[in-house]
Amino acid sequence: MRSSEDTFGTAINCIDGRAQKPVADWLKSQRIAYVDTVTDAGVDGVFAHGGSLEALRKNVDTSVSAHKSSFIVVAGHHDCAGNPVSKEEHWNHVRTAVEIIRSWELPVKNIAGLWVNERWEVEEIISCPGAAARS
Ligand SMILES: [Zn+2]
Repeated sequence: MRSSEDTFGTAINCIDGRAQKPVADWLKSQRIAYVDTVTDAGVDGVFAHGGSLEALRKNVDTSVSAHKSSFIVVAGHHDCAGNPVSKEEHWNHVRTAVEIIRSWELPVKNIAGLWVNERWEVEEIISCPGAAARS
């Protein structure tokens, strides 16, 4: 087993600069050393509204295949210009995004959905069952 020092994770996030660090820090709290970041404006809405995921998925595939990413998260955030909907709608969009990412059947067992709230703190919408067992 590899040490935590060479462990990569993948963050699928909005382009919004305010949302990057909270999500990266959350992944680091899950023993991820390096966070590959794949962004699109209002990315949770892109998943939920059936937008084109081709470029996004290609980048996720690269993160998983080249870096052996062991944890994928998708996040929505407060005050999102790219997906200006209510918090409740964001949470539903993130749930949809997690379902779609799971359907890709990547060799990554840890997949979580996150919310970056108005204090720029991460709330877990869907946390993966595998996370607690990692040590
Ligand atoms: Zn945004």
